[in-house]
Amino acid sequence: MYITNFMMIALRYYSSYSYRSSSRYSGGIELLLLFGMLIIPIIAQINVKSTFSKYSKVANSRGLTADQVARKILDANGLYYVNIEHIPGKLSDHFDPKANVVRLSDSVYGKTSVAAIGVAAHECGHACQHAEEYRPIVLRSAVVPAVSFCSKIWYFLFLIGIFISSLSVGTTLIYISIAMFAAVVIFQLITLPVEFDASGRALKTLEQDGILESAEVPMAGKVLKAAALTYVAALVASLMQLIRLILIARKR
Ligand SMILES: [Zn+2]
Repeated sequence: MYITNFMMIALRYYSSYSYRSSSRYSGGIELLLLFGMLIIPIIAQINVKSTFSKYSKVANSRGLTADQVARKILDANGLYYVNIEHIPGKLSDHFDPKANVVRLSDSVYGKTSVAAIGVAAHECGHACQHAEEYRPIVLRSAVVPAVSFCSKIWYFLFLIGIFISSLSVGTTLIYISIAMFAAVVIFQLITLPVEFDASGRALKTLEQDGILESAEVPMAGKVLKAAALTYVAALVASLMQLIRLILIARKR
């Protein structure tokens, strides 16, 4: 899960140029946008952490560990070549398509909680998406290098543009940087069907293969829903940021 990335980015934006925008255009919609883009991802993070923590205390009745479940799901889908590894950290679980490895974090690997089982099954869902060449994940993977470049550089272009905004090249730079940020927003939008589909696959497998009891499936579902909401929150925050950037650009 790439949960914290966009919250960190949002905080960086705030610390770097909120003074300029909020002091010049005090009050009103910009401050509301700034508040929203900061607070929404934080609420989503608190929600996923508390939901995960709650269902980390509920062990599955079959006594399976999350890594055993991951192996079972991968094998059931013919993905014998996908390995499972233990990585340090909290909610840092992910599927690495280059190495073909499902990496499970401390609170998931070897754990029997319904929360851990849900997360492991979700990451296996990503492995299945790659194996099936599920269209949104293929598209997402294809644009990663370009989006990664845009996400690293747009901010500096924007700052340079603001600095030299009295020149016409400055205005051009501002709009190029906003277009680059818009590419990042589109990437976040493509991420949503990928994440929702991985969770949908996970819950279906957990139920149909009898890995979790019927009463346990909704618990894993709540954890996965809370995780998915962090991606929705990141998208909403970025849309707010995009509007802010356009407002700043138009006032120059
Ligand atoms: Zn995911």
